[in-house]
Formats: sequence, C-alpha cells, structure tokens
Amino acid sequence: MTICMDMKCTKCCQEREIVLTHDDVHKLLTMGHYEQTFARPSKWGHNLKELVFIQGKCIFLKDGICSVYKNRPAACRAFPMTLGDRGPVIDPSCPHGEHFRNDPNFKTEAEIGLKLIIEDIERTIAYSTKK
Ligand code: SF4
Ligand code: SF4
Repeated sequence: MTICMDMKCTKCCQEREIVLTHDDVHKLLTMGHYEQTFARPSKWGHNLKELVFIQGKCIFLKDGICSVYKNRPAACRAFPMTLGDRGPVIDPSCPHGEHFRNDPNFKTEAEIGLKLIIEDIERTIAYSTKK
C-alpha cells in the first residue's frame, strides 16, 4: 500500500495542473488510451502537454482510484515533492506531507523523477524555439 492509499487521499488528482513528459504519453498510449482523450496543450506553450482534467478531476480518477496507477505520469509519482525556489520541497497542499518527508526512498525517487521531468521540459522548449 502506498501512503496515499493508506490515507484514502486523492487530493492531488483534483484541481491540479500536471505536465506530461514524452515518456508519460508513451506509457499511456501503450495502455490503449488515445492521446486526444488524456493530453491537451499546456498554457505554457512550447508544445508542452498537460493531463486532461474534467470538472476539476483527472480523467483517470475512477471511483477514487487512479485507473492508470502503474503508468501514472512522473509528476504524479513525484508528488508531493515539487520544485521550490531553493530546490525540491514537500508541497504544503498535501495533507500527509510528513509521511513522505520521513520516507527516504520516496525522497530519492521523487528527486530523480523531478530531474527527469525538468530535463524533458527543457528539451521540449529547446526544440520548439529552434523551429
Ligand atoms: S500525494 Fe498527498 S495530496 Fe496527493 S493523494 Fe497522496 S496524500 Fe493526497
Ligand atoms: S493519473 Fe492517476 S495519480 Fe495522476 S492525477 Fe490522474 S488519477 Fe491521480
């Protein structure tokens, strides 16, 4: 069981903006989902993509459970670790942040995940500004 399941929490699957990396899109496509249904252009431009939310809820949230859990986007895996002004921090909006703060495995994996997300975003922006 994960901390989120233990706590029966899906707060970060609602009212959020989740960037999709190329790898995220690829994994969701391999599950048979159509990109048009789960990805939309990010408001930040540069061909960046974000996960589709409808009426504030992620389209993959079904009956309080993530229906793509094994292939959920990197930003979902890393949360509540986010990038603050001075580096990775536990986002204060997570009501169970102390559990993540005390989990060294989570911290290591989330920091690696954040790094990969940032690298993917930087590559996408660099490619879009070259064209
Ligand atoms: S990361 Fe935090 S806010 Fe998101 S579902 Fe888990 S406990 Fe809830
Ligand atoms: S993909 Fe899964 S974990 Fe990520 S926001 Fe949607 S329901 Fe939540």
